[in-house]
Amino acid sequence: MIEIRTRIAPSPTGFAHIGTAYVCLLNYAFTRKNGGKLILRVDDTDTKRHVEGAEDAIYAGLSWLGFDWDEGPDKPGGFGPYRPSEKLDIYKAKADELIKKGQAFEDEGAIRFKNTGQDQTWRDLIRGEIKFGGGEITDFVIIKSDGYPTYNFNTVVDDIDMQITHVIRGEEHISNTPRQLALYQAFGVKPPEFAHFPTLRNADHKKLSKRRDPVDLRLYREAGYLPQALVNFLGLLGWSHPDGKEVFDLAEFVEKFDLNRVSHAGPIFDTKKLDWLNGLYIRSTSDVELVKMLNERSTYNVSEEMAALIRERISKLSEADSLLDFFVNQPVVGRDLFEGVEKSSLHVTTALHVLSNIKDWNLENINSALTKLIEEKGFKTGDFYMTMRLVLTGKRMTPPINESMVILGQDEVLQRLEEAQKILIDIEPSEIS
Ligand code: GLU
Repeated sequence: MIEIRTRIAPSPTGFAHIGTAYVCLLNYAFTRKNGGKLILRVDDTDTKRHVEGAEDAIYAGLSWLGFDWDEGPDKPGGFGPYRPSEKLDIYKAKADELIKKGQAFEDEGAIRFKNTGQDQTWRDLIRGEIKFGGGEITDFVIIKSDGYPTYNFNTVVDDIDMQITHVIRGEEHISNTPRQLALYQAFGVKPPEFAHFPTLRNADHKKLSKRRDPVDLRLYREAGYLPQALVNFLGLLGWSHPDGKEVFDLAEFVEKFDLNRVSHAGPIFDTKKLDWLNGLYIRSTSDVELVKMLNERSTYNVSEEMAALIRERISKLSEADSLLDFFVNQPVVGRDLFEGVEKSSLHVTTALHVLSNIKDWNLENINSALTKLIEEKGFKTGDFYMTMRLVLTGKRMTPPINESMVILGQDEVLQRLEEAQKILIDIEPSEIS
Protein backbone atom coordinates (compact mmCIF):
# COMPACT_ATOMS: atom_id res chain seq x y z
CA MET A 1 0.00 0.00 0.00
CA ILE A 2 1.18 3.50 -0.80
CA GLU A 3 1.66 5.78 2.16
CA ILE A 4 -0.80 8.65 2.25
CA ARG A 5 0.95 12.03 2.03
CA THR A 6 -0.97 15.28 2.27
CA ARG A 7 0.07 18.87 2.51
CA ILE A 8 -1.15 22.28 3.48
CA ALA A 9 0.45 25.17 1.64
CA PRO A 10 -0.36 28.44 3.38
CA SER A 11 1.12 31.62 2.00
CA PRO A 12 3.12 33.64 4.53
CA THR A 13 1.04 36.79 4.43
CA GLY A 14 1.79 38.11 7.92
CA PHE A 15 -0.52 36.16 10.19
CA ALA A 16 -2.16 32.78 10.56
CA HIS A 17 -5.56 32.83 8.88
CA ILE A 18 -8.56 31.04 10.34
CA GLY A 19 -8.94 29.43 6.89
CA THR A 20 -5.46 27.93 7.27
CA ALA A 21 -6.56 26.42 10.57
CA TYR A 22 -9.56 24.91 8.78
CA VAL A 23 -7.47 23.49 5.90
CA CYS A 24 -5.10 22.10 8.48
CA LEU A 25 -7.89 20.50 10.51
CA LEU A 26 -9.29 18.60 7.53
CA ASN A 27 -5.88 17.53 6.23
CA TYR A 28 -4.71 16.61 9.71
CA ALA A 29 -7.78 14.47 10.40
CA PHE A 30 -7.66 12.69 7.05
CA THR A 31 -3.93 12.06 7.38
CA ARG A 32 -3.83 10.95 11.01
CA LYS A 33 -6.84 8.72 10.53
CA ASN A 34 -5.11 6.98 7.63
CA GLY A 35 -1.69 6.79 9.22
CA GLY A 36 -0.13 9.11 6.63
CA LYS A 37 2.26 12.05 6.66
CA LEU A 38 1.20 15.68 6.76
CA ILE A 39 3.53 18.18 5.14
CA LEU A 40 3.61 21.90 5.79
CA ARG A 41 4.79 23.80 2.77
CA VAL A 42 5.13 27.54 3.10
CA ASP A 43 3.97 28.83 -0.25
CA ASP A 44 6.27 31.83 -0.47
CA THR A 45 6.38 32.46 -4.21
CA ASP A 46 4.65 35.81 -3.96
CA THR A 47 7.78 37.86 -3.26
CA LYS A 48 5.93 41.18 -3.30
CA ARG A 49 3.87 40.11 -0.34
CA HIS A 50 6.75 38.81 1.72
CA VAL A 51 6.29 39.72 5.38
CA GLU A 52 8.85 39.27 8.14
CA GLY A 53 7.78 36.82 10.86
CA ALA A 54 4.85 35.52 8.80
CA GLU A 55 6.14 31.98 8.84
CA ASP A 56 6.47 32.00 12.63
CA ALA A 57 2.90 33.22 12.92
CA ILE A 58 1.76 30.15 10.97
CA TYR A 59 3.73 27.77 13.20
CA ALA A 60 2.51 29.50 16.36
CA GLY A 61 -1.14 29.59 15.28
CA LEU A 62 -1.31 25.97 14.19
CA SER A 63 0.63 24.72 17.21
CA TRP A 64 -1.65 26.67 19.54
CA LEU A 65 -4.58 24.72 18.11
CA GLY A 66 -2.81 21.44 18.83
CA PHE A 67 -1.74 20.50 15.30
CA ASP A 68 1.57 18.99 14.39
CA TRP A 69 3.04 18.04 11.03
CA ASP A 70 5.64 15.55 9.89
CA GLU A 71 7.69 17.65 7.48
CA GLY A 72 8.06 21.35 6.85
CA PRO A 73 10.64 24.16 6.76
CA ASP A 74 10.95 23.74 10.54
CA LYS A 75 10.99 19.92 10.31
CA PRO A 76 13.16 18.81 7.44
CA GLY A 77 12.27 15.50 5.82
CA GLY A 78 13.57 13.88 2.69
CA PHE A 79 11.37 15.86 0.30
CA GLY A 80 12.48 19.47 0.76
CA PRO A 81 13.06 22.29 0.36
CA TYR A 82 9.68 23.12 1.89
CA ARG A 83 9.81 26.74 0.80
CA PRO A 84 9.34 27.14 -2.97
CA SER A 85 11.57 30.23 -2.97
CA GLU A 86 14.49 27.91 -2.18
CA LYS A 87 14.08 25.74 -5.28
CA LEU A 88 13.77 28.22 -8.17
CA ASP A 89 16.40 26.28 -10.13
CA ILE A 90 14.27 23.16 -9.91
CA TYR A 91 11.21 24.90 -11.36
CA LYS A 92 13.37 26.31 -14.14
CA ALA A 93 14.72 22.85 -14.95
CA LYS A 94 11.20 21.42 -14.95
CA ALA A 95 9.99 24.17 -17.27
CA ASP A 96 12.95 23.55 -19.60
CA GLU A 97 12.00 19.88 -19.64
CA LEU A 98 8.53 20.87 -20.88
CA ILE A 99 10.04 23.24 -23.47
CA LYS A 100 12.18 20.37 -24.83
CA LYS A 101 9.12 18.17 -25.10
CA GLY A 102 7.29 20.93 -26.97
CA GLN A 103 4.82 21.39 -24.10
CA ALA A 104 5.93 24.87 -23.07
CA PHE A 105 7.45 27.88 -24.80
CA GLU A 106 9.20 31.13 -23.98
CA ASP A 107 7.27 34.35 -24.28
CA GLU A 108 8.73 37.78 -23.44
CA GLY A 109 10.99 36.44 -20.71
CA ALA A 110 8.27 34.26 -19.18
CA ILE A 111 7.57 30.60 -19.88
CA ARG A 112 4.07 29.48 -20.85
CA PHE A 113 2.49 26.07 -20.84
CA LYS A 114 1.28 24.97 -24.26
CA ASN A 115 -2.32 23.95 -23.84
CA THR A 116 -3.18 20.66 -25.49
CA GLY A 117 -6.87 21.50 -25.61
CA GLN A 118 -7.75 18.28 -23.85
CA ASP A 119 -10.76 18.18 -21.50
CA GLN A 120 -9.87 17.66 -17.84
CA THR A 121 -11.96 15.53 -15.56
CA TRP A 122 -11.49 14.28 -12.04
CA ARG A 123 -13.58 12.55 -9.41
CA ASP A 124 -13.45 14.93 -6.52
CA LEU A 125 -13.56 13.10 -3.18
CA ILE A 126 -16.06 15.64 -1.84
CA ARG A 127 -17.93 16.75 -4.96
CA GLY A 128 -17.88 13.81 -7.31
CA GLU A 129 -17.08 14.19 -10.99
CA ILE A 130 -15.94 17.62 -12.18
CA LYS A 131 -15.20 18.39 -15.82
CA PHE A 132 -13.61 21.35 -17.57
CA GLY A 133 -13.45 21.77 -21.33
CA GLY A 134 -9.92 21.88 -22.78
CA GLY A 135 -10.58 25.31 -24.25
CA GLU A 136 -10.83 26.82 -20.77
CA ILE A 137 -7.22 26.09 -19.91
CA THR A 138 -5.25 28.47 -22.22
CA ASP A 139 -1.48 28.84 -22.62
CA PHE A 140 -0.91 29.94 -19.04
CA VAL A 141 2.34 31.28 -17.58
CA ILE A 142 4.33 28.77 -15.53
CA ILE A 143 7.51 30.80 -14.89
CA LYS A 144 7.25 34.57 -14.60
CA SER A 145 9.86 36.87 -16.09
CA ASP A 146 11.33 37.38 -12.59
CA GLY A 147 12.17 33.68 -12.50
CA TYR A 148 9.50 32.75 -9.98
CA PRO A 149 7.02 29.96 -10.72
CA THR A 150 3.30 30.75 -10.82
CA TYR A 151 1.10 29.14 -8.17
CA ASN A 152 -0.16 26.39 -10.51
CA PHE A 153 3.36 25.43 -11.56
CA ASN A 154 5.08 25.37 -8.19
CA THR A 155 2.11 23.51 -6.74
CA VAL A 156 2.34 20.69 -9.26
CA VAL A 157 6.15 20.47 -9.16
CA ASP A 158 6.10 20.49 -5.35
CA ASP A 159 3.24 18.03 -5.04
CA ILE A 160 5.12 15.66 -7.37
CA ASP A 161 8.44 16.17 -5.53
CA MET A 162 6.80 15.65 -2.16
CA GLN A 163 4.89 12.59 -3.41
CA ILE A 164 1.57 14.03 -2.35
CA THR A 165 -1.24 11.50 -2.71
CA HIS A 166 -4.23 13.64 -1.64
CA VAL A 167 -4.79 17.35 -2.18
CA ILE A 168 -7.46 18.60 0.22
CA ARG A 169 -8.10 22.32 -0.21
CA GLY A 170 -10.74 25.01 -0.55
CA GLU A 171 -13.23 25.21 -3.40
CA GLU A 172 -11.65 28.46 -4.61
CA HIS A 173 -8.99 26.22 -6.16
CA ILE A 174 -11.40 24.11 -8.24
CA SER A 175 -10.75 26.29 -11.28
CA ASN A 176 -6.99 25.78 -10.87
CA THR A 177 -7.27 22.02 -10.85
CA PRO A 178 -7.70 21.53 -14.65
CA ARG A 179 -4.46 23.46 -15.28
CA GLN A 180 -2.71 21.38 -12.68
CA LEU A 181 -4.06 18.17 -14.23
CA ALA A 182 -2.78 19.31 -17.64
CA LEU A 183 0.68 19.77 -16.06
CA TYR A 184 0.61 16.28 -14.53
CA GLN A 185 -0.18 14.95 -17.99
CA ALA A 186 2.69 16.89 -19.52
CA PHE A 187 5.07 15.45 -16.93
CA GLY A 188 3.64 11.96 -17.40
CA VAL A 189 2.86 11.68 -13.69
CA LYS A 190 -0.33 10.27 -12.19
CA PRO A 191 -2.11 13.11 -10.38
CA PRO A 192 -3.09 12.90 -6.71
CA GLU A 193 -6.68 12.60 -5.56
CA PHE A 194 -8.42 15.95 -5.08
CA ALA A 195 -10.99 17.00 -2.50
CA HIS A 196 -12.35 20.55 -2.52
CA PHE A 197 -14.16 21.60 0.62
CA PRO A 198 -16.53 24.58 0.82
CA THR A 199 -15.40 28.10 1.62
CA LEU A 200 -16.20 29.42 5.09
CA ARG A 201 -18.74 32.24 5.09
CA ASN A 202 -19.61 34.98 7.55
CA ALA A 203 -23.06 35.68 8.98
CA ASP A 204 -23.94 37.60 5.78
CA HIS A 205 -23.08 34.49 3.75
CA LYS A 206 -20.05 36.25 2.28
CA LYS A 207 -16.66 34.59 1.99
CA LEU A 208 -14.59 35.32 5.12
CA SER A 209 -12.30 38.18 4.26
CA LYS A 210 -9.36 39.94 5.84
CA ARG A 211 -11.06 43.32 5.49
CA ARG A 212 -14.49 42.37 6.82
CA ASP A 213 -13.98 39.58 9.32
CA PRO A 214 -11.72 38.59 12.21
CA VAL A 215 -9.62 36.04 10.35
CA ASP A 216 -6.32 36.34 12.22
CA LEU A 217 -5.98 33.43 14.65
CA ARG A 218 -4.28 35.71 17.16
CA LEU A 219 -7.51 37.67 17.57
CA TYR A 220 -9.22 34.52 18.81
CA ARG A 221 -6.43 33.82 21.21
CA GLU A 222 -6.49 37.38 22.55
CA ALA A 223 -10.26 37.34 22.94
CA GLY A 224 -9.86 34.35 25.21
CA TYR A 225 -11.09 31.49 23.10
CA LEU A 226 -9.69 28.14 24.14
CA PRO A 227 -7.92 26.29 21.34
CA GLN A 228 -9.99 23.17 22.04
CA ALA A 229 -13.20 25.17 21.59
CA LEU A 230 -12.02 26.70 18.32
CA VAL A 231 -10.98 23.30 16.95
CA ASN A 232 -14.33 21.81 18.01
CA PHE A 233 -16.11 24.73 16.34
CA LEU A 234 -14.14 24.36 13.10
CA GLY A 235 -14.91 20.65 13.19
CA LEU A 236 -18.63 21.46 13.04
CA LEU A 237 -18.24 23.64 9.97
CA GLY A 238 -19.22 21.74 6.87
CA TRP A 239 -18.93 18.46 8.72
CA SER A 240 -21.24 16.58 11.01
CA HIS A 241 -20.45 13.98 13.61
CA PRO A 242 -22.01 10.62 12.67
CA ASP A 243 -23.82 10.50 16.05
CA GLY A 244 -24.94 14.12 15.79
CA LYS A 245 -22.61 15.14 18.63
CA GLU A 246 -21.66 18.80 18.86
CA VAL A 247 -18.96 18.61 21.50
CA PHE A 248 -15.84 16.61 20.70
CA ASP A 249 -12.09 16.98 20.84
CA LEU A 250 -9.49 16.76 18.08
CA ALA A 251 -8.79 13.07 18.75
CA GLU A 252 -12.46 12.21 18.35
CA PHE A 253 -12.71 14.33 15.21
CA VAL A 254 -9.80 12.39 13.72
CA GLU A 255 -11.37 9.10 14.69
CA LYS A 256 -14.76 9.91 13.13
CA PHE A 257 -13.52 11.95 10.18
CA ASP A 258 -14.60 10.96 6.71
CA LEU A 259 -14.40 13.16 3.59
CA ASN A 260 -17.84 11.79 2.66
CA ARG A 261 -19.32 13.73 5.54
CA VAL A 262 -17.98 17.09 4.30
CA SER A 263 -20.80 19.17 2.81
CA HIS A 264 -20.74 21.05 -0.48
CA ALA A 265 -22.48 24.13 0.84
CA GLY A 266 -20.46 26.94 2.43
CA PRO A 267 -20.74 26.69 6.22
CA ILE A 268 -21.50 29.82 8.22
CA PHE A 269 -18.94 30.96 10.74
CA ASP A 270 -21.41 31.57 13.56
CA THR A 271 -19.61 33.26 16.43
CA LYS A 272 -22.57 32.74 18.79
CA LYS A 273 -22.02 29.03 18.49
CA LEU A 274 -18.31 29.51 19.06
CA ASP A 275 -19.02 31.51 22.23
CA TRP A 276 -21.39 28.82 23.43
CA LEU A 277 -18.79 26.11 22.87
CA ASN A 278 -16.09 28.21 24.48
CA GLY A 279 -18.26 28.66 27.57
CA LEU A 280 -18.68 24.89 27.75
CA TYR A 281 -14.92 24.36 27.55
CA ILE A 282 -14.26 27.01 30.18
CA ARG A 283 -16.75 25.36 32.51
CA SER A 284 -15.11 21.99 32.04
CA THR A 285 -11.63 23.17 33.04
CA SER A 286 -10.38 22.58 36.57
CA ASP A 287 -9.83 25.53 38.94
CA VAL A 288 -6.08 25.07 38.61
CA GLU A 289 -6.19 25.14 34.81
CA LEU A 290 -8.51 28.12 34.72
CA VAL A 291 -6.30 30.07 37.12
CA LYS A 292 -3.31 29.32 34.94
CA MET A 293 -5.09 30.47 31.78
CA LEU A 294 -6.43 33.60 33.44
CA ASN A 295 -3.14 34.56 34.99
CA GLU A 296 -1.42 34.27 31.62
CA ARG A 297 -3.53 37.15 30.45
CA SER A 298 -5.17 38.88 33.41
CA THR A 299 -3.88 42.09 34.92
CA TYR A 300 -4.97 40.73 38.30
CA ASN A 301 -3.52 37.99 40.34
CA VAL A 302 -6.36 35.51 40.06
CA SER A 303 -6.81 32.97 42.85
CA GLU A 304 -8.54 29.60 42.56
CA GLU A 305 -11.44 30.94 44.61
CA MET A 306 -11.92 33.85 42.22
CA ALA A 307 -11.67 31.62 39.17
CA ALA A 308 -14.27 29.26 40.61
CA LEU A 309 -16.67 32.18 41.16
CA ILE A 310 -16.52 33.54 37.63
CA ARG A 311 -16.28 30.29 35.71
CA GLU A 312 -20.04 30.08 35.11
CA ARG A 313 -20.25 33.71 34.08
CA ILE A 314 -17.80 33.99 31.21
CA SER A 315 -17.84 32.63 27.70
CA LYS A 316 -14.41 34.10 26.85
CA LEU A 317 -11.37 34.55 29.08
CA SER A 318 -11.28 38.22 28.10
CA GLU A 319 -14.51 38.76 30.04
CA ALA A 320 -12.86 37.81 33.31
CA ASP A 321 -11.11 41.08 34.10
CA SER A 322 -14.24 43.18 34.30
CA LEU A 323 -15.79 40.61 36.66
CA LEU A 324 -12.68 40.42 38.83
CA ASP A 325 -11.95 44.12 38.95
CA PHE A 326 -13.87 44.76 42.18
CA PHE A 327 -11.73 42.28 44.11
CA VAL A 328 -8.76 44.53 43.55
CA ASN A 329 -10.18 48.00 43.05
CA GLN A 330 -12.79 49.62 45.22
CA PRO A 331 -15.68 50.49 42.90
CA VAL A 332 -16.86 54.04 42.49
CA VAL A 333 -20.28 53.99 44.09
CA GLY A 334 -22.61 56.93 43.53
CA ARG A 335 -26.18 57.42 44.71
CA ASP A 336 -27.65 57.11 41.24
CA LEU A 337 -26.48 53.50 41.20
CA PHE A 338 -29.13 52.62 43.76
CA GLU A 339 -32.04 53.99 41.80
CA GLY A 340 -35.00 51.65 42.02
CA VAL A 341 -33.52 49.59 44.84
CA GLU A 342 -35.84 50.02 47.79
CA LYS A 343 -34.44 50.59 51.30
CA SER A 344 -30.83 50.52 50.20
CA SER A 345 -29.77 52.89 52.97
CA LEU A 346 -31.33 50.66 55.59
CA HIS A 347 -29.80 47.55 54.03
CA VAL A 348 -26.36 49.05 54.33
CA THR A 349 -26.69 50.22 57.93
CA THR A 350 -28.12 46.96 59.21
CA ALA A 351 -25.74 44.77 57.17
CA LEU A 352 -22.82 46.76 58.50
CA HIS A 353 -24.00 46.00 61.98
CA VAL A 354 -24.48 42.23 61.63
CA LEU A 355 -21.40 41.69 59.48
CA SER A 356 -19.13 43.51 61.91
CA ASN A 357 -20.32 41.14 64.63
CA ILE A 358 -19.13 38.04 62.80
CA LYS A 359 -16.20 36.51 64.68
CA ASP A 360 -15.20 33.85 62.23
CA TRP A 361 -15.38 35.24 58.65
CA ASN A 362 -16.59 32.35 56.52
CA LEU A 363 -19.38 31.65 54.06
CA GLU A 364 -21.59 29.80 56.51
CA ASN A 365 -21.55 32.61 59.06
CA ILE A 366 -22.11 35.29 56.43
CA ASN A 367 -25.03 33.35 54.95
CA SER A 368 -26.75 32.80 58.28
CA ALA A 369 -26.20 36.35 59.55
CA LEU A 370 -27.67 37.89 56.41
CA THR A 371 -30.56 35.41 56.12
CA LYS A 372 -31.50 36.19 59.70
CA LEU A 373 -31.27 39.94 59.07
CA ILE A 374 -33.48 39.76 55.96
CA GLU A 375 -36.07 37.77 57.88
CA GLU A 376 -36.09 39.97 60.97
CA LYS A 377 -36.36 43.21 59.03
CA GLY A 378 -38.74 41.84 56.43
CA PHE A 379 -36.44 42.93 53.55
CA LYS A 380 -37.06 41.77 50.03
CA THR A 381 -34.23 39.32 49.41
CA GLY A 382 -33.66 40.48 45.81
CA ASP A 383 -33.44 44.14 46.83
CA PHE A 384 -31.20 43.45 49.79
CA TYR A 385 -28.65 41.53 47.74
CA MET A 386 -28.82 44.07 44.95
CA THR A 387 -27.73 46.67 47.49
CA MET A 388 -24.87 44.44 48.58
CA ARG A 389 -23.79 43.90 44.97
CA LEU A 390 -23.85 47.58 44.19
CA VAL A 391 -21.99 48.55 47.34
CA LEU A 392 -19.29 45.94 47.04
CA THR A 393 -18.82 45.75 43.27
CA GLY A 394 -20.49 48.77 41.70
CA LYS A 395 -22.32 46.41 39.37
CA ARG A 396 -25.65 44.64 39.08
CA MET A 397 -24.21 41.49 37.52
CA THR A 398 -21.58 39.97 39.76
CA PRO A 399 -20.23 36.66 40.94
CA PRO A 400 -22.18 35.18 43.90
CA ILE A 401 -22.02 38.00 46.39
CA ASN A 402 -21.64 36.19 49.73
CA GLU A 403 -18.85 34.08 48.26
CA SER A 404 -17.25 37.27 47.01
CA MET A 405 -17.42 38.71 50.54
CA VAL A 406 -15.38 35.78 51.80
CA ILE A 407 -12.66 36.56 49.27
CA LEU A 408 -12.76 40.32 49.87
CA GLY A 409 -12.29 39.76 53.59
CA GLN A 410 -14.17 41.27 56.51
CA ASP A 411 -12.21 44.54 56.77
CA GLU A 412 -12.65 45.36 53.12
CA VAL A 413 -16.37 44.51 53.14
CA LEU A 414 -17.00 46.66 56.22
CA GLN A 415 -14.99 49.50 54.79
CA ARG A 416 -16.96 49.48 51.52
CA LEU A 417 -20.23 49.37 53.46
CA GLU A 418 -19.11 52.37 55.55
CA GLU A 419 -18.26 54.33 52.42
CA ALA A 420 -21.68 53.55 50.98
CA GLN A 421 -23.36 54.50 54.21
CA LYS A 422 -21.87 57.99 53.96
CA ILE A 423 -23.28 58.35 50.48
CA LEU A 424 -26.73 56.99 51.29
CA ILE A 425 -27.21 58.35 54.80
CA ASP A 426 -28.84 61.64 53.82
CA ILE A 427 -31.34 60.10 51.43
CA GLU A 428 -34.74 61.43 52.42
CA PRO A 429 -37.14 58.76 53.65
CA SER A 430 -39.36 59.63 50.68
CA GLU A 431 -36.46 58.95 48.34
CA ILE A 432 -35.76 55.64 49.99
CA SER A 433 -39.51 54.93 49.84
N1 GLU B 1 -1.04 28.84 -1.22
C1 GLU B 1 -2.31 28.31 -1.67
C2 GLU B 1 -3.39 28.83 -0.74
O1 GLU B 1 -3.11 29.20 0.37
C3 GLU B 1 -2.28 26.81 -1.67
C4 GLU B 1 -3.44 26.19 -2.38
C5 GLU B 1 -3.30 24.69 -2.54
O2 GLU B 1 -3.50 24.00 -1.52
O3 GLU B 1 -3.01 24.23 -3.64
O4 GLU B 1 -4.53 28.92 -1.13
